[in-house]
Amino acid sequence: LRLLARQVAADTARARAYEEERRRAEQLAELDRAKTAFFSNVSHEFRTPLTLMLGPLEDALTDTEEPLASHQRERLSLVYRNGMRLSKLVNSLLDFSRLEAGRAKVAFQPTDLPAFTAELVSHFESAARRAGLLLTVDLQANSEPVWVDREAWEKVVFNLLSNALKYTFEGGITVTLRAQGGEAVLRVRDTGTGIPEQALPHVFERFHRVEGARARSHEGSGIGLALVQELVKLHGGSIHVRSVVGEGSTFSVHLPLGTAHLPSGRVLAREE
Ligand code: ADP
Repeated sequence: LRLLARQVAADTARARAYEEERRRAEQLAELDRAKTAFFSNVSHEFRTPLTLMLGPLEDALTDTEEPLASHQRERLSLVYRNGMRLSKLVNSLLDFSRLEAGRAKVAFQPTDLPAFTAELVSHFESAARRAGLLLTVDLQANSEPVWVDREAWEKVVFNLLSNALKYTFEGGITVTLRAQGGEAVLRVRDTGTGIPEQALPHVFERFHRVEGARARSHEGSGIGLALVQELVKLHGGSIHVRSVVGEGSTFSVHLPLGTAHLPSGRVLAREE
């Protein structure tokens, strides 16, 4: 009888512990939802006034009929640049919270990935030249089109190249695209500062910035790579990084081919 009583007591304790854990998990999930909603609301509220500020600023800076005096131009350019920086951050936060809440508007389309990627990369040619860096591009075609959300792919390429440019001071950046084992693999390799080994597992975390990292500009918030990872996951893909301090970094994005891994209902049948 005593044995039975002990058994019942143990079972009751276990059930209580389980119940407690479930309650805590629910609370955490609720907090997470509240946090996402908060980010989303704040970002949204910031966006309109920012757009209304940046528009007239841009007009003033590009007005050829009544050009600004050089000191005015200098000051307003600074305001404009920082406004743009804030705007990019707000947009990234908004993208991120939409993705997290499963509310991102995505449409996967069969895409000529080398051609599309080449066009995106070409926007970085002049910045690379100005920085004295060699930009090498080698994009090979898959035998079949790759299904991507074009806006998402643009953000992936844009963030990876901006980072490569920001953290590379000599040498260059190489962008390759390959068909490899049923996947399309994009690699962005740079000969930049590299990332310390202990920081590598954290670079895809939100707001993580490597302490003391040397960069061409100190703009940044640590949201870029977190967003890239979410966007890649949306495609059923994965992203990896290899890096050696003083030698450089390689980010590789793996996208599975076909549509089996994509959420149905978001897949557009034809190219638009
Ligand atoms: P940030 O806006 O700070 O660039 P990211 O999320 O894009 O944010 O990157 C997170 C951190 O990872 C950066 O702060 C930087 O320290 C490091 N990092 C990212 N890309 C590179 C790179 N190509 N070379 C060296 N460090 C990098």
